Amino acid sequence: MSETVDTPTIPVLIVGAGIGGLMLGAVLESANISYHILERAAELRPLGSALALSANILPVFEQLGIYEDLKSVSLPHVSVDIFNTRLDDLGSIGGSFHKIVYVQCMTPNE
Ligand SMILES: Cc1cc2nc3c(=O)[nH]c(=O)nc-3n(C[C@H](O)[C@H](O)[C@H](O)COP(=O)(O)OP(=O)(O)OC[C@H]3O[C@@H](n4cnc5c(N)ncnc54)[C@H](O)[C@@H]3O)c2cc1C
Repeated sequence: MSETVDTPTIPVLIVGAGIGGLMLGAVLESANISYHILERAAELRPLGSALALSANILPVFEQLGIYEDLKSVSLPHVSVDIFNTRLDDLGSIGGSFHKIVYVQCMTPNE
């Protein structure tokens, strides 16, 4: 005998349209679960820096079917340069981090 699971009729309320809230919204969307996202900031503005995504989060982008799109606007992470608070160059960690990428980042304008 098979069991059926009813889709919840109460929408999920997500407070904050940061990367966590938006990712949860995308996951709920793909699961056909209704949701609302509330964000206190009135607009988005460029952060002006790159966002490093490490390997542990990339499977989520693959599951959502947006990994290839993300990769197409990203650059591979090839080294980590380390500076102290006076911006003296302390060295770098080289290597080939194939699954770490940089993407352009937007942040809410509070
Ligand atoms: C300078 C800097 C560089 C970083 N670089 C990286 C990086 O390269 N790679 C990486 O993985 N992580 C990086 N991080 C960490 C990353 O930004 C955070 O881990 C991530 O943004 C957390 O996401 P979040 O959705 O939990 O919270 P947030 O991004 O802080 O989003 C929370 C959202 O909730 C909204 N909010 C808060 N309270 C309310 C409310 N009461 N009602 C409505 N809306 C509300 C806020 O306006 C905001 O938009 C960096 C952080 C900083 C500060």
